[in-house]
Amino acid sequence: MPPAPRLWDEFASMKKRAVFLDRDGTINVDVGYPRDFAQVTLFPWSAEAIRKINAAGFVTVVVTNQSGIGRGFYGEDELQTLHRRMTEALAAEGARLDAVYYCPHYDYAADPRYRGGCACRKPRPGLAERAAAAFDLDLPASYMIGDKVEDVQFGLAFGAAPILVRTGYGESSAVRLAALGLRPAAAAPHLLEAVAWLLERERTRRT
Ligand SMILES: [Mg+2]
Ligand SMILES: [Zn+2]
Repeated sequence: MPPAPRLWDEFASMKKRAVFLDRDGTINVDVGYPRDFAQVTLFPWSAEAIRKINAAGFVTVVVTNQSGIGRGFYGEDELQTLHRRMTEALAAEGARLDAVYYCPHYDYAADPRYRGGCACRKPRPGLAERAAAAFDLDLPASYMIGDKVEDVQFGLAFGAAPILVRTGYGESSAVRLAALGLRPAAAAPHLLEAVAWLLERERTRRT
C-alpha cells in the first residue's frame, strides 16, 4: 500500500481554477480592430462581473484573437498599451484582470512572424495552455465566457465549461452552434448574467 500523502503534498498540488474571458463582444463592444483604448467601450456591467469572478477565487484571464497584428492594422506595442489601459480602467472599479493573452497571427500575414498555423488562435487551446503554465491551472475545472463559436469550441478543447454571451456576435453564434450540434454549458444575455449562472452552478455543486 502506498503511503498516505501528507497534508502539505495535497495542498501543494491543489491547482487553481480560471475564468477565461473573451475580449471584444464579451467585456467591451465589438467595434472591429480597435487600436487605442479610446475606441473601446466597456459594457456597463463588466467591472461588476469581473469583481464577482475575483471574489469567488478564480484566476481571471482574458484570451483574445488579435489578427489585427498579423493584418498590420496595429503593432504589439499598441495592443499591449490598450490592454494596460483596459486593465487600469477595470482596476479603478475594483476589478482585477490577472493576465491578458492574445494571438497575433493571421494566415496571410505579410510579416512571417505573424503568419498562421499557430497553436494559439482560438479555438486552438494554446492561450489556455500558456495561462495554465503561468498560474498552475486546473483547465477542465475552469470556465470560458465568450460570444463566438470559436470561444465555445476553445472551452470545449480543454474540457472547461463554455458559456455563450448574447452580446457581440452571440445571437448568430447561438444559431451556428446549434447547426454544428455544439452545446455551451449555458447561454446568457451578457457577461454579468453568465457570471451569475457560473456562481449558482458552483454553489449547487458544493452542496
Ligand atoms: Mg468576441
Ligand atoms: Zn496564434
